[in-house]
Amino acid sequence: MENRWSTTDAAQALTRDTPRWGADLALRTYASRLLGAEKSLVLHGGGNTSVKSVWTNLLGEAEPALYVKASGWNLATMEPGGHAPLALPFLQRLQSLPHLGDADMVQVLRAHRLEPDAATPSIESLLHAFLPPKWIDHTHADAILTLTNQEGGRALIAEALGPDVIILPYVHPGFALAKAVAEAFAQAPHSRGMVLMKHGLLTWGESAQESYQRTIELVSQAEAFIASRMQPQPPPDATAVTAAWARYGEFAPMLRGALAVATADPDHPWQRFILRPLINPDILALLDQPDIQTLLVSPPLTTDHLIRLKPLPLWLAPEAAASPEGVRAAVEQYRQAYHAYLTTAAAGMAVTPLDDSPRLVLIPGIGAVCVGQNSQEAALVWDLALQTLAVKGSMARMGGRYEGVSVQDQFAMEYYAPQRAKLGQAATPALGRSVALVTGAAGAIGSGLCRELLVQGAHVALVDLPGEGLQAVAAGLQAVHGSRVLPVAMDVTDPQSVADGLQQLIQQWGGLDLLVLNAGLAHVSSLEAMQVEAFLRLQRVNVEGTLHLLSAAARHFRQQGTGGDVVLISTKNVFAPGANFGAYSATKAAAHQLARIASLELASMGVRVNMVAPDGVFSDGQRPSGLWAEVGPDRMRARGLDAAGLESYYQNRNLLKARITATHVANAVLFFATRQTPSTGVTLPVDGGLPDATPR
Ligand code: ZN
Repeated sequence: MENRWSTTDAAQALTRDTPRWGADLALRTYASRLLGAEKSLVLHGGGNTSVKSVWTNLLGEAEPALYVKASGWNLATMEPGGHAPLALPFLQRLQSLPHLGDADMVQVLRAHRLEPDAATPSIESLLHAFLPPKWIDHTHADAILTLTNQEGGRALIAEALGPDVIILPYVHPGFALAKAVAEAFAQAPHSRGMVLMKHGLLTWGESAQESYQRTIELVSQAEAFIASRMQPQPPPDATAVTAAWARYGEFAPMLRGALAVATADPDHPWQRFILRPLINPDILALLDQPDIQTLLVSPPLTTDHLIRLKPLPLWLAPEAAASPEGVRAAVEQYRQAYHAYLTTAAAGMAVTPLDDSPRLVLIPGIGAVCVGQNSQEAALVWDLALQTLAVKGSMARMGGRYEGVSVQDQFAMEYYAPQRAKLGQAATPALGRSVALVTGAAGAIGSGLCRELLVQGAHVALVDLPGEGLQAVAAGLQAVHGSRVLPVAMDVTDPQSVADGLQQLIQQWGGLDLLVLNAGLAHVSSLEAMQVEAFLRLQRVNVEGTLHLLSAAARHFRQQGTGGDVVLISTKNVFAPGANFGAYSATKAAAHQLARIASLELASMGVRVNMVAPDGVFSDGQRPSGLWAEVGPDRMRARGLDAAGLESYYQNRNLLKARITATHVANAVLFFATRQTPSTGVTLPVDGGLPDATPR
């Protein structure tokens, strides 16, 4: 492992942060970031660091203080302010207590913050307080875990790291671990560090650099030891990846359907998950090894991983993965096994079961699938799964057998309140666990629709023809909503392009729940002057495009088996057509009729299909409507108006004198998409009141 310490960078950190935070915090932050830069040391809030220094109180007196990483901070992006200052002398006195419960420990840590606004200190803070050295680094290093989580791990660690490293058997994190660590240190205070079995590594030093370097040295020693014990491996088969992705496209909707949890609410009958595949040559080769199942279907590397990955992954044999029934049966079996584990581990204690769905699914020939309530959670699982599989893969090559923490300890951690607090229990937004596809996303109405769906938490595929328009809308929305935005270039008139686009969506999030058909073209011409080619151009987009997407979505919804929603952006012209607007009105009427048919055909699958019929939406903020760019000039000529005049003409012709916006159209779509009423085959006008255009 590379030693990243740079005297120049450390000096720069000192110059930058010392005036405001003091030299100790400046160096603490610098060294913490170096640890965080190494993914094989810590991941996602894992690990923690501290420095014992002073705090200047209001009277100008310097009090001894422990600065420890606060919960919610990652070492990789540490800032001086990410350390909670704690009253060190008091915390040290707690060591004399025979016992301290988890809830009391969290309370006492919060109560002894010297800065009341500081975030909650790490749940491992007492460990840092009880250990005497000034600088302490704690990581969950892959190489250490590769050795501690094997049968005979203690002997392996001793052989790899030598005699001047303390080895502590597994102790549940909290007060008991803090005391055990302090007592073990007192026995051998001149050691270079301490390995916590099935947990990680602790190093310390008289300077930030010394403690950091010890971490790097010990991890490097463990890495070298592992490398010397590993069997050589044939190079992985790169062609297997292409086949795995193709299989995944078929498999993902079945898995997503099987994972969805049935609810008692008929309007929202499923709690769905977002999937993120982990497919690479190494993982495929690992999953293909004979007898690998026992090693891989084992508890997570540390109890820190457990709250994200659940106690065990789900193993799906390729035969079971080939049919929806097979996948469903395997998921059902997993859930039963989870409840059996809970009954055993809770041993009569009353606990409210957490959700019983797997977070990691392993399928030979396909890869690993990471499961989360949203894309962010799935991405986090993905990182942890990548690390876990790499570590267990190294063990396999060493010929080792996995030994995780006991069922009791798994349970203690999974249901450990301070640890679960890390998961955060933010309320799920209305569409937080669903995937939407919006066609015509680069247009005025389309971009407004995508924006409002994203605000409601949906994962949204922005579908439009390839080009700058799509990229610009996607970039704007990605800046706000990150990984829940996926631009998909698609020509809706080409069934192959539709199928490919849907595949892209499935590979990204696992499936589709909400289809918004918004792509449309307009053309102005009297029937007398109509060029048939112009008419057919509209027919291809407005009718055939709608048909291709409805067909593809229907097949997908059937495969997934958890219902769905379709909303067609229709138009007031379906009910009140306009002269010189035949191609548009007729093709939109055909699309409207297709959607009504879909409502009849798909209802038995739990799919609702509804229509929203707006009148003239001119723009969405700065984005002008393409449809009006086509139609506007003719309408202005016909009525002798300029652009502003035309807009107010449309406004004044409705009963409410309302100016119709993309947000109004999006609100109507949300009304259906969030299933406020048990409606299907229904049209909701968004037109300010046009009696001629009222659906009947
Ligand atoms: Zn830890």
